Amino acid sequence: MADREELFFKKKNVYDTISEDDRARAFAYAGEYKRFLDSSKTEREAVREAVSLAEGMGFKRYAPDMELAAGAKIYTTVADKTVFLAVIGGRPISEGVNIAAAHVDSPRLDLKQSPLYEDEGLAFFKTHYYGGIKKYQWVTLPLALHGVVIRKDGSRADIVIGEDESDPVFLITDLLPHLGKEQEKKTLGEAFTGENLNILLGSRPEGEEKESDRVKLAVLRILNEKYGLIEEDFLSAELEAVPAGRARDLGLDGSMIAAYGHDDRSCAFAALRALLDAREPERTAVCVLTDKEEIGSEGMTGMQSAAFEDFMSYLCGGLRHAGRTFSKSFCISADVCNAFDPCFPDVSEKNNSAFINRGMAVMKYTGARGKSGSNDASAETVGFLRRLFDENGVAWQTTELGKVDQGGGGTVAMYMANRNIETIDAGVPVLSMHAPFEVVSKLDCYMVYKGIRSLYERKM
Ligand code: MN
Ligand code: MN
Repeated sequence: MADREELFFKKKNVYDTISEDDRARAFAYAGEYKRFLDSSKTEREAVREAVSLAEGMGFKRYAPDMELAAGAKIYTTVADKTVFLAVIGGRPISEGVNIAAAHVDSPRLDLKQSPLYEDEGLAFFKTHYYGGIKKYQWVTLPLALHGVVIRKDGSRADIVIGEDESDPVFLITDLLPHLGKEQEKKTLGEAFTGENLNILLGSRPEGEEKESDRVKLAVLRILNEKYGLIEEDFLSAELEAVPAGRARDLGLDGSMIAAYGHDDRSCAFAALRALLDAREPERTAVCVLTDKEEIGSEGMTGMQSAAFEDFMSYLCGGLRHAGRTFSKSFCISADVCNAFDPCFPDVSEKNNSAFINRGMAVMKYTGARGKSGSNDASAETVGFLRRLFDENGVAWQTTELGKVDQGGGGTVAMYMANRNIETIDAGVPVLSMHAPFEVVSKLDCYMVYKGIRSLYERKM
């Protein structure tokens, strides 16, 4: 007769189960991940960094005449914002591939196309936010500007201001509490409007007192001298305001990381690192780092783009063959989920929440209002992952996004599953998701790396 121990499912803290060696590896891995975070604050930077790490490990940009023998390492990029990488496996590709798909865009404030204006002696940038943000979190916080500007003559300026210790930063102001009586009566959603998220960037005038827009002129002068820009160049620019500064250890014990963009760089780095480290995969291993997840995965650099079919048809020798390969493939949609927050227990149901330090969080389904807009993975799919992870010492847990009807969300999972690829969501649990600084546990990040690597190296 089975005893209590056997019958009950007991959830465990990874610190109680992890080996000393693995814990040391997890903390070393966290150090690498923090470096990736610091060099990859935008989708373009993440793609550039991924390509540079991959090339360092012998990956080559794909060309049609390339021989794709077992062990070949290739990649291709889409508009510098999405990257597909693959290690060719020992078995024929028609037997299916193993995919981890993560995204490298994060919520932020984009500059509008005509952003620069002056008001009462102060210069500002108008912004249009990207992705789901709580607007009140983005005021009185040091911001950095990252992005590219295409000048009138077609040349390009790469811009990063606010990350170096000697750089200035930018900021959105807020009302002082002394005059906040009316503001405080408003709801969180009403008190800060998207149109009011204006970034302060100058106060020093140039020229004669009687002239207008003297601060704006001085700002343009600086941009012209440093980057050769004129105001019209903002029309063809992508400048993103993100929280300034580096990823930091969080907590006295240094067990967590506070940083901008854990969603979804924690999974993107795990997928990338796992591919770079994968030893002689039997099936071809594919890593997708995609753009535009935060705004619906649309467009040529999003997960719905035909660019993925294009890449896979290269590997499979034609689009028709890619379709057959998809039907035998497996995809981990590697994305973060919400971690249970003891300070906000009401929105979650404890038996079905991910917790910090309990490992890689598997989400059978996402969606909202009765799982709508979700890839609801099958029992067989969860069963496969369960055996895979258990056999490879991957600490994992299951979760769903909050209580039933509390809200909802989605990932790229359904776009992979719509291609006839067996797909499941799994990733790192995050506290304060979509805030300027998000929180993850080092052990959880490492378990996601281990989980994805076990898929790439699977023997089953
Ligand atoms: Mn995400
Ligand atoms: Mn997100």
